[in-house]
Amino acid sequence: MARYRGSVCRLCRREGEKLFLKGERCFKDKCGVERRAYAPGQHGQRRTKISDYGVQLREKQKVRRIYGVQEKQFRTYFFEADRRKGVTGENLLAILESRLDNVVFRLSLGDSRSEARHFVRHGHIQVNGRKVDIPSYQVRPGDVVTVRPRSKKVDRIQTCFSAVERKGVPPWIEVNQKDMEGVVKARPTREEIALPVREQLIVELYSK
Ligand code: SF4
Repeated sequence: MARYRGSVCRLCRREGEKLFLKGERCFKDKCGVERRAYAPGQHGQRRTKISDYGVQLREKQKVRRIYGVQEKQFRTYFFEADRRKGVTGENLLAILESRLDNVVFRLSLGDSRSEARHFVRHGHIQVNGRKVDIPSYQVRPGDVVTVRPRSKKVDRIQTCFSAVERKGVPPWIEVNQKDMEGVVKARPTREEIALPVREQLIVELYSK
């Protein structure tokens, strides 16, 4: 399926909650969910009864949209999560959280995941001293994620990174503000992934 190029606020409205896909705008009055708290489209304001399958599907779509992952790749992540030891749903979230674009976003190098992804794609990010321009790259404990030396002067990157103290970083990443870098200390645990999602529903959906 092709990449979604429409309004991302529609995605939040479809899920009926804020997915924070637009950075700072999401905290302002202009937020689409705040202004029109109903599903998009002609029939968005109709009351509909949602089936069990619908609930599971919506939860999967929500997580997929938060991380900006296509269906095929998401499914691949699910099978990988299922293959690993431990709880499948938690493994799935850990895999998504370990994507390079997400780590860059968590380091406040980008106002949203899509902006962080843009910085990765444009070669501004290094992992262990080598340029990596693959947003889906999986970071591992011990990896050092940093901004390429000459990209440290880019205004937009500096502006985003200046918010790192205010936004904070998750406990599984250690930030070094002076060098604009983050060290991955461990794999993220479920408690460290502050997302209001019910991953068990996704497991149930894919296990049918
Ligand atoms: Fe979603 Fe942000 Fe748009 Fe609000 S402003 S609808 S949270 S993407």
